[in-house]
Amino acid sequence: MRLVVVVIRRRLAILSLLLLTLLLILPKTVSLMTVLSWHILRTPVDVVIDPGHGGVDPGANDHDTMEKDITLQIALQVRDMLVRYGISVGLTRSTDTDCSGWSQLRPGRHLADLNQRARMTNKGKIGISIHVNSSSDPNQKGAMVLYAAGSDPGRALADEIISQLALVTDLNHSKPVPRSNLLVLNATQVPTILVEVGFLSNPTDKARMKDEAFRYRLAEALARGVINYFTTTSSAQEPSAQGATTM
Ligand SMILES: [Zn+2]
Repeated sequence: MRLVVVVIRRRLAILSLLLLTLLLILPKTVSLMTVLSWHILRTPVDVVIDPGHGGVDPGANDHDTMEKDITLQIALQVRDMLVRYGISVGLTRSTDTDCSGWSQLRPGRHLADLNQRARMTNKGKIGISIHVNSSSDPNQKGAMVLYAAGSDPGRALADEIISQLALVTDLNHSKPVPRSNLLVLNATQVPTILVEVGFLSNPTDKARMKDEAFRYRLAEALARGVINYFTTTSSAQEPSAQGATTM
């Protein structure tokens, strides 16, 4: 028995040493998040929520208001709502960081970031990427929902989400928009949608998105859309009620 304990301790010590060595030899531009995601990518969840941008990538921004902050705030609220409902949720990020694992803006970062988000989204039964729009035309306003062209389950999910968004905000497009050139949609094998919750370039939308109560209503709409999708879509599997996972 004592010998077994000694052997286990020795193995743990070797494993710790290996992990420490790995962390030390990794390029400095690879963050701890990438290391952690290797483990988390093995954990399937019902829904993966992807708060767009983060860290060195602010996304659309207008002085004091940045897309990366709005998407994260809404995503965290949607996660909490779904988890309370018994739906397990993974996030591509839960803090102000991008997903490339690189701490600097440099060529290839954006693609690495998107590829990592797509990989993580594939660990869910469905995926929701949250973004904020911007346009040179300040009159453009309202939400829109994009899905991968040709994906019937993606369209079904988009339909559920847009019908809930219509209850709480203006719609830029009254129907979901099929897209075939967005990596987050087209590099995922599970039904995935991208939600643009509003235009930061529109004064009304901007004021709304800066309002905590309005962001909460947007989050409720997204959560209700997910619940309705799982409830009404016969091809969707039942939620496994495993709780939350942080990606
Ligand atoms: Zn965006």
